[in-house]
Amino acid sequence: MKHRGVLFVVSGFSGVGKGTLVKELVRRYDNYALSVSMTTRTPRKNEVDGVSYFFVSREEFERTIRQDGLIEYASYLENYYGTPRAWVEQQMDEGRDVILEIEVQGALKVKEKFPEAVLLFVLPPSARELKRRLESRGTESAETVLKRLKRAREEAEFIPDYDYQVVNDKLEDCLKQIHGIVCAAHGRPALNQEFDNQLKGELEALVKGEN
Ligand code: 5GP
Repeated sequence: MKHRGVLFVVSGFSGVGKGTLVKELVRRYDNYALSVSMTTRTPRKNEVDGVSYFFVSREEFERTIRQDGLIEYASYLENYYGTPRAWVEQQMDEGRDVILEIEVQGALKVKEKFPEAVLLFVLPPSARELKRRLESRGTESAETVLKRLKRAREEAEFIPDYDYQVVNDKLEDCLKQIHGIVCAAHGRPALNQEFDNQLKGELEALVKGEN
């Protein structure tokens, strides 16, 4: 049975490890496609244009907004971040489960436009552990770490708007849990309308005594 892919939105506080989780999902299983966002933020060390993000100027970002080229976009710590539309829709049509790793404002916009999207929030085992993970990245100043923690406190208000939450304590357990959620979502009728309509047509024909 061929179904449309799940639009799977993963959010979580900065530093919680959601990047590692989504990369592992893509590496281990065939069904996922990871969307590459567009941003006006400056690349960090080791980030590659077109892989980590499409790094663009404010002008280019705003032009893409005007051309309706983004499914959603949001401003986060003074920069724009957005999800390119064309690639995501193509992957879903081909039956792939598209992962959007995005922050809460964008996630809620996706849910408005695509009610069948599955929204997951990744949590740290504790606030202290979150701070430790942010500091151990070694790429952020103390000031940025504090900004990100403040932002986390604000984002926590939106957890009840998500469909699921998982705690990223042991990577293996967390991955299994997340993959289970996506597999279960394949059974949602909204993603299987083509199959269901065909079945209804066949039933109708049988009832009428055709065939
Ligand atoms: P970072 O600067 O740490 O790479 O990302 C900052 C935040 O922006 C993270 O919470 C990340 O999930 C989010 N983000 C990345 N891409 C997008 C996007 O396309 N749209 C939205 N709304 N948020 C994004």
